[in-house]
Amino acid sequence: MARRKAAVAAAASRELKKPAKKRVPPSPGAKKSKYLRAEQIFSRLQAAYPDAKCALDHTNPLQLLVATILSAQSTDKMVNTITPALFKKYPTAEAFANADITELETMIHSSGFFRNKARSIKAACQAIAAEHAGKVPETMEALLELQGVARKTANVVLGVAFGIAEGVVVDTHVQRLSRRLDFSKEERPDKIEQDLMQLFPRDRWILLAHLLIHHGRAKCIAIRPKCAECPIEDLCYAEDKQPIK
Ligand code: SF4
Repeated sequence: MARRKAAVAAAASRELKKPAKKRVPPSPGAKKSKYLRAEQIFSRLQAAYPDAKCALDHTNPLQLLVATILSAQSTDKMVNTITPALFKKYPTAEAFANADITELETMIHSSGFFRNKARSIKAACQAIAAEHAGKVPETMEALLELQGVARKTANVVLGVAFGIAEGVVVDTHVQRLSRRLDFSKEERPDKIEQDLMQLFPRDRWILLAHLLIHHGRAKCIAIRPKCAECPIEDLCYAEDKQPIK
């Protein structure tokens, strides 16, 4: 009995002396593969959609800003039917700033949420006219000060109108595809944007959004995506991927 007790005590002592197990860091290969896969997806989408660009018709930063505000809860196609007459009637920020709100509402009615949008466009253009000499500001900080402008709209204007990569545009397509392609597990656009900014180099940010939006419209649609026609099918592990016959 005494011998057994001594053996147990010795075993316990040996266990205590064992060095603590080291945490094994992820292998450099595993880490690299995440970025490599992201780069492969980017390249394939770039080859598949060489003309990917912003689908909102515009000829200057102000028109793009107004069109982007109008595109909330609407489609680019619908916005493009409204804007030719709108930009003709209101060619400058001052013109929008002085617009009769009822007339403005009538002109943008078919884009939906027209009352809020009319108020935002008028107020944003009043600030642009009064504080920025009629020119759309070129910084994220100043854009976010404008009524009706959140990060998505600011990223569109900075990226498309000024070529400034301050972040990644996360619209409904980018949100859905980022999750399907496992670029992000987040739900909120601001968190998804952070994940995309971490995964892709800055010089990819502007085009990345265009490519994902194009792919989201062409193949990776919300319900029953067209996986058999997808250029990145072999790199996609989405749970709702459609079976390939
Ligand atoms: S395989 Fe299907 S789900 Fe995956 S990216 Fe392509 S279209 Fe989307």
